[in-house]
Amino acid sequence: MWIDSHCHLDAPEFDADRAEVVRRARAAGVTMQVLPAVAADHFDAAVALAHEHGLAYALGIHPLWTDRAADADLQRLADALHRHRDDPRLVAVGEIGLDHFVPGLDRARQQHFYLAQLRLARDAGLPVILHVRRSADALLAGLNRIAVPGGIAHAFNGSRQQADRFIDKGFRLGFGGTLTFEPARQIRELATTLPLHALVLETDAPDIPPHWLYRTAAERTAGQPQGRNEPAELPRIGAELARLRGLALGDLAAATTANARAALPRLAALVPATA
Ligand SMILES: [Zn+2]
Repeated sequence: MWIDSHCHLDAPEFDADRAEVVRRARAAGVTMQVLPAVAADHFDAAVALAHEHGLAYALGIHPLWTDRAADADLQRLADALHRHRDDPRLVAVGEIGLDHFVPGLDRARQQHFYLAQLRLARDAGLPVILHVRRSADALLAGLNRIAVPGGIAHAFNGSRQQADRFIDKGFRLGFGGTLTFEPARQIRELATTLPLHALVLETDAPDIPPHWLYRTAAERTAGQPQGRNEPAELPRIGAELARLRGLALGDLAAATTANARAALPRLAALVPATA
């Protein structure tokens, strides 16, 4: 049994076959997915999809969407967290964070949304799902100011030292398709050597396709579309991680499932523990 701890099932890439994507995931053993919203206009869709398909969701404003977000969207988030506070499928505040990689984004605005959403998570008693890109130190500084009950640093791409600081704060680190690429040395090294209890698996579907779906720039120029990632790919990504760590596949699945339940405690009621 696997948990995809980060899947954008509401993305338009899935409009044509969303139910089939969920069916394929379950057939592959991916019994649970966490669907993080990225903008206030997406909150209702995340809630509805989680209920329709028996999945989990998180509510938040993604750093890449803060330029388009209004300050009133923070109130919409506060209202939605309040409205759904007793919904067992609401497992986190996310996807929130900071992106210091994509050029042209207003960092002060990202920081404003990040800190405000940390406060909402703290007040709701919910963990957070963090977007990290060249921003690990700044994210950690925010967590030093506003203590939240842990969560997941998703698609982790910082240093070992930064990873250890997240782990010290009770966070798990999310790994996915990137670890299937041999040139991604640092991420493969982290995925191989970090303590097993700190790792969760995710696809970030439809993004971050594993190498077997990835189309190079040359292939795309020649007319092949970029491969669409989907949650059914998670066990094959997990198999690569199991191989890197020298673990049996079942042991890796059990460990990462337990880690996801620990990182997002409300998942425990949705995903029964395995023996
Ligand atoms: Zn994401």
